[in-house]
Amino acid sequence: MKAIVSLNAGSSSIKFALFTLEDPAAPHMVAGGKVEKIGISPSLTIRAADGTLLHQHDWRGGERLTHAILLEELSGWLLGHLAGHELVGIGHRIVHGGTRFAEPRILDQTLLADLEALCALAPLHQPHNLAAVRAMMKIHPALPQIACFDTAFHRQMPETASRFALPRALHDAGIRRYGFHGLSYEFIARQLREVETNLADGRVIAAHLGNGASLCAMRGGRSIDTTMGFTALDGLMMGTRCGTLDPGVVLHLQTELGMGVGEVEELLYRKSGLLGVSGISSDMRALHDAESPAAGEAIELFVWRAARECGAMAASLGGVDGVVFTAGIGENHAGIRRQLCERLEWLGIRLDQQANEESQQIISSGDSAVRVLVIPTNEELMIALHTATLLRRLRGSVSPQRGGRCI
Ligand code: ADP
Repeated sequence: MKAIVSLNAGSSSIKFALFTLEDPAAPHMVAGGKVEKIGISPSLTIRAADGTLLHQHDWRGGERLTHAILLEELSGWLLGHLAGHELVGIGHRIVHGGTRFAEPRILDQTLLADLEALCALAPLHQPHNLAAVRAMMKIHPALPQIACFDTAFHRQMPETASRFALPRALHDAGIRRYGFHGLSYEFIARQLREVETNLADGRVIAAHLGNGASLCAMRGGRSIDTTMGFTALDGLMMGTRCGTLDPGVVLHLQTELGMGVGEVEELLYRKSGLLGVSGISSDMRALHDAESPAAGEAIELFVWRAARECGAMAASLGGVDGVVFTAGIGENHAGIRRQLCERLEWLGIRLDQQANEESQQIISSGDSAVRVLVIPTNEELMIALHTATLLRRLRGSVSPQRGGRCI
């Protein structure tokens, strides 16, 4: 039986999942988990699909352990637990595909070099995504590695939604709104088809609220607008990212405060958002537990900004039939969902408070004009589905991307 691995490598964590392909069109997850706190005190947790803990390891004093070393550890565990399955491919989340790449593709040195050129547009993610590809290529040189792009889901956005009000030549040169969290939104669109068929055809705001946060306006399961743009800095306030900012601030930081490009990048990507406003933490749970007024202000700003952007998405959609919450905060933080929905009562949203407290799948009340749902995202499954589909398509056929080799 064949198996594939999905990898989602970030700056301080690597999420992964192992799938078997009993049915080649429906990957079945057998185990998954996370390497966390890379660079501080890394730990590895692996659970079976039913949540049973399979493996846990803490590397005390392991602040020097690199992504590559940790991937080797992880790879060793996965290979040891294939239980007779044959690993046939590794799917990777690649955050930015630029103008040229949307469909999943087999990674080779040429594609890696092209994607490397996009690192400046996603400095928190792309370098780590690509480092994981290189590490896995070293560990498994004969295995196909597949790139699955976070920008792909938004490629069908209307031209107007993808354009900045900048000179045409810049748009043509690729300075346009791409949107991100696409694998997550694609999963939500797919789940909606299963759990709320009517809503899947309707006007939905999907709210991916995690460390990175964005909204997607979906009509009939397709993205027609989203809050992130050219980079994953735009839109909502995030854990450490500022979200939408008057571009004049950037000019001021450079010309009047003498900040260099690197300093501005550090400020906007890593020192702003919840962390910057609270001065305490980028983590919503930590802020919720903190007594400080600045923590309260940071949460207030997060909610206000999210509500404001929901208004923008509602305008793009011409009305809203449903709202879906997902990712760490969206799936777990009843308080943030309640505060945000209260600010959206003008849209006809009414919450069932108990259902919300319990993070049930449907959290709107019976008299709500808008259905509100909580759907845990599963980017790893989307990566596995794309990987399995591409491998199936290429199997037995001549691959145009691999110089005629059969896979
Ligand atoms: P990433 O973008 O790194 O994948 P996550 O989706 O894991 O981030 O989201 C991280 C955020 O979710 C943090 O702000 C964290 O505080 C919040 N979060 C995670 N679990 C919970 C929980 N059980 N209750 C409240 N907030 C949570």
